[in-house]
Amino acid sequence: MNTEEYFKKITAHAKEYGFIFQSSEIYDGLSAVYDYGQNGVELKKNIREYWWKAMVQLHENVVGIDTAIFMHPTTWKASGHLDAFNDPLIDNKDSKKRYRADVLVEDHVAKIEEKISKEVEKARKRFGDAFNEEQFVTTNPRVVEYKQRITDISHRLYGAMEANDLAGIKKLIEDLEIVCPISGTRNWTEVRQFNLMFSTRMGSVADGADTIYLRPETAQGIFVNYLNVQKTGRMKIPFGIAQTGKAFRNEIVARQFIFRMREFEQMEMQFFVRPGSELEWFEHWKKERMDWHLSLGLPAEKYRYHDHEKLAHYANAATDIEFDFPFGFKELEGIHSRTDFDLSAHAKHSGKKLQYFDPDTNESYTPYVIETSIGLDRMFLAMFSHAYNEEKLDDGTERVVLRLPAVLAPYKVAILPLVKKDELPEKAREIMDMLKGDFMCQYEEKDSIGKRYRRQDAIGTPLCVTVDNQTLEDNTVTVRDRDSMTQVRVPIDNLRGMIFDELKPKR
Ligand code: ATP
Repeated sequence: MNTEEYFKKITAHAKEYGFIFQSSEIYDGLSAVYDYGQNGVELKKNIREYWWKAMVQLHENVVGIDTAIFMHPTTWKASGHLDAFNDPLIDNKDSKKRYRADVLVEDHVAKIEEKISKEVEKARKRFGDAFNEEQFVTTNPRVVEYKQRITDISHRLYGAMEANDLAGIKKLIEDLEIVCPISGTRNWTEVRQFNLMFSTRMGSVADGADTIYLRPETAQGIFVNYLNVQKTGRMKIPFGIAQTGKAFRNEIVARQFIFRMREFEQMEMQFFVRPGSELEWFEHWKKERMDWHLSLGLPAEKYRYHDHEKLAHYANAATDIEFDFPFGFKELEGIHSRTDFDLSAHAKHSGKKLQYFDPDTNESYTPYVIETSIGLDRMFLAMFSHAYNEEKLDDGTERVVLRLPAVLAPYKVAILPLVKKDELPEKAREIMDMLKGDFMCQYEEKDSIGKRYRRQDAIGTPLCVTVDNQTLEDNTVTVRDRDSMTQVRVPIDNLRGMIFDELKPKR
């Protein structure tokens, strides 16, 4: 199955099983906006809670807040979003399709990277066990040439972006002979800057109403509340403030399902530290966040760091945690050392002193900030796309199974009476009542047991509890494991402990 087919299957499965629907589908949908269905909302909530628990509950020096989507418009002047939250766009005159100019170039680079991977795979097959990848990629003339090409292109692209040299970006696209994937032509418009913030008006009188913005990130709600939280929570540096919530970006090219949306949710944490200690804390959070990902039990090869060589003017270190999505490694989370840029900018624009008096050193300073920022929907896609598996079984049949980490699965357990008679439903209901206060449980009595197992596999329920005639005699049930499909007989009294065990971190 190629990537596109695989991706189509995931999208179809997400819809068929009530995880994700296109927004306003009955009106043919709204581009890059999605709704979460009955199972999707549970998975999404579980990811949010897993994050919140790791960041807030398990860190005594991190507290959570929930700030408004609308903020005073000066916020966005201070943060730099009004002036610089732009993407360079370009149109193809023949197809009338619009693209992000930098993404066109990055896609071109990705194709060269693919060529390198192919060379490596070919060589690996040729040399077998004796293959030394490190040596090969640094000495093979073709690979070295490809790598040099990538360096040159990146240098030109990021140089032009940094200098706001739109003509330079256009020239790069022309020099690389990039064609529109739809029309196949090189008939491009000039490159223009496009601000990604959505605006609306607040107030009832059209004339006097102020333009305000839908926040493009949740972080600024934290910065403007820094002093409120520090004072009322009597927080001592180093400390963090976390929040989850909606963010809005008018993305030029919104594709790849929920990877890039116009309305999405972020989970962010700003960690305030003493100036000079920020790089130590940056390393700390870099590791901490990777450990969080790995604790879900997916293979470590699915993740990698991408350290930024080109830093934003206010940052002194930045890395992405990338995930191996069906369309390759892409950013899942960003970790940034943002210096005192945001607090100083808000202090300047508001006229308020946003400082910290350090009782240990008897001095006042503007704290430096390490930020961890992950997209909840992107995390959903990472988990969902990895979990989706089509399997051929020994008896020749097939099944679709979502191998979700148990802690994230919408339902933890399904309670299934083997047949709909002989008092088995009543007994199953008893078990359901015993467990449903602690876990999301689903009761199902319709269809054959095999069909019911398949339905639970398809929504990722890790355990199925089957109640049969023996249950009435000795209070034991069979518990079927989603992944191995093995069944064990256990006393009903052991069920709660067994499910809690399933939910423990995997590392
Ligand atoms: P990208 O380069 O993919 O546009 P970004 O670097 O602009 O992302 P940040 O501003 O660092 O992203 O936002 C932090 C996180 O928010 C990202 O790592 C990503 O998981 C998520 N995110 C950003 N934009 C979107 C979007 N349009 N849709 C879904 N998630 C998003």
